[in-house]
Amino acid sequence: VRPRPSVLDAFRDAVRAAPERTALAYFDGRLSYQEVDRLSDALAGHLAAHGFRPGERLAVVLQNSPHFVLTLLATWKAGGIAVPVNPMYKTAECAHVLADAEVSALVCADRAWEAYLRAAAGDALVRIVLTACETQLQSRNDLRVLPADRLPVPGDTTDLLAAARGEAVPPTVPSPAPGDTALICYTSGTSGTPKGAINSHGNLAYNAERQHIGHGLPAGSTYFALAPLFHITGLVCELSTCFVAAGTLVLAYRFEAGVVLDAFTEHRPAYTVGPATAYMALMARPDATRDHFASFEMLSSGGAPLPPALVDAFQARFGPYLHNGYGLTECSAPCASVPPGRRAPVDPVSGTLAVGVAGPDTVVRILDEEGAEVPFGEPGEIAVRGPMVVSGYWRRPRESEAAIPGGELRTGDVGFMDRDGWLYVVDRKKDMINASGFKVWPREVEDVLYTHPAVREAAVVGVPDAYRGESVKAYVSLRPGHAPEPADLVAYCERRLAAYKYPRVVEILPELPKTTSGKILRRELRAEA
Ligand code: ATP
Repeated sequence: VRPRPSVLDAFRDAVRAAPERTALAYFDGRLSYQEVDRLSDALAGHLAAHGFRPGERLAVVLQNSPHFVLTLLATWKAGGIAVPVNPMYKTAECAHVLADAEVSALVCADRAWEAYLRAAAGDALVRIVLTACETQLQSRNDLRVLPADRLPVPGDTTDLLAAARGEAVPPTVPSPAPGDTALICYTSGTSGTPKGAINSHGNLAYNAERQHIGHGLPAGSTYFALAPLFHITGLVCELSTCFVAAGTLVLAYRFEAGVVLDAFTEHRPAYTVGPATAYMALMARPDATRDHFASFEMLSSGGAPLPPALVDAFQARFGPYLHNGYGLTECSAPCASVPPGRRAPVDPVSGTLAVGVAGPDTVVRILDEEGAEVPFGEPGEIAVRGPMVVSGYWRRPRESEAAIPGGELRTGDVGFMDRDGWLYVVDRKKDMINASGFKVWPREVEDVLYTHPAVREAAVVGVPDAYRGESVKAYVSLRPGHAPEPADLVAYCERRLAAYKYPRVVEILPELPKTTSGKILRRELRAEA
């Protein structure tokens, strides 16, 4: 894999190679590579003119819209570091990210957001605010109907598109070097407070190039952004890989199953990646047909566990095979994936689906508590070394050294590897349930629940138990038209799992709590239990 120094370089190559090609498609609106280049030049010039300097951090608090992409490119063109922030965060969550990254500029959806975010960031910090008027773009609005002639509002809050339509004079800063910081990307917060992983331009460019080569899709292919761009999966596997391929990126604001199906019909994408929960939601749509998925060369699931039962059910109903992929924010998205044309094996003992094989230039090792490698098939902590591993966490030297000693990432995930190099993720180290001294990995129990025809989503947690220390409890949501008794689901698991593993209690909820990137939040359920 010979990546370019940065994704910005790949984008600029695409502008030269195919200036008229559609870079971004958004409902009825389209922007060519040339237009995106020009708009992001002007926006970078605007940022520089307002005192934004190389090395400063700019928070992008936006959904999947052209504004997100323009802002990201403009930040890099101005020599800055982008900090993607989940726009669904509540005040305390925003405050943590904005203050931790010490952002001096931010781009948010509209003016209502501005005061809120300023308060969250601490007034003194943020000097420049741009608003995207993104709220007008949530439906099938054409980019052309945006208020292009809207004047910048008083104060230092400026309409992003007005700024982007200004003089296209980008600041004269050198192109980013591979070792320069491209992003401070906060982890999802599935297990605790999000940490800012320092993703370099080289990290992103490597993984995007590797994905592009691995997929084998022709240049100019269409990519659909199913995962949010504020999450590393969307930013690398969709946006960055699309630019490396000089392709078209289709954006649909945020995940809404009906809108996504319509966009598939309209844009006929070749590739997408999203969490398993997005595919579950598409499966739950009675109006979804094989034709919706007919254009796909490859569909991937990543960032969260993929139950084997979902892969089979999805293929039986729609045709395509769902490729598993394993990644972390600290690996700039994927570090193992299922090669095209291959099927991931299922471990016959635990029923776990392999997440894939390590990519080129990547070394995955399975380590015991002392940091020594364990034999094939034995579980241990997954450790990853390769050009996609970040250098550390933003301003957390002690945690960086603990998580990435000598440049090898300790993932906090337990897994094992078979002799053919297939990697299996058992579960997160922290989520292990200790029932009378027996280890129970929630994933294994969840995978069994997913084979039940009534189960739509499942999450398993340990609950305090006076006799066993901890016992196993399952939460499920149901598919439409099914109404099993909790006791039926307990009995179903009892028939398939050892006595210490099957859940003693199953609670049915209308919907399971998830992170806004679509991961089921066991920690919330554990707290509730
Ligand atoms: P935090 O670190 O704040 O708790 P997080 O771990 O969810 O949040 P991410 O970087 O978004 O942050 O997610 C990486 C984690 O997602 C991995 O460590 C792993 O536990 C899980 N994961 C990713 N892909 C897969 C997969 N294919 N199968 C199982 N688990 C996966």
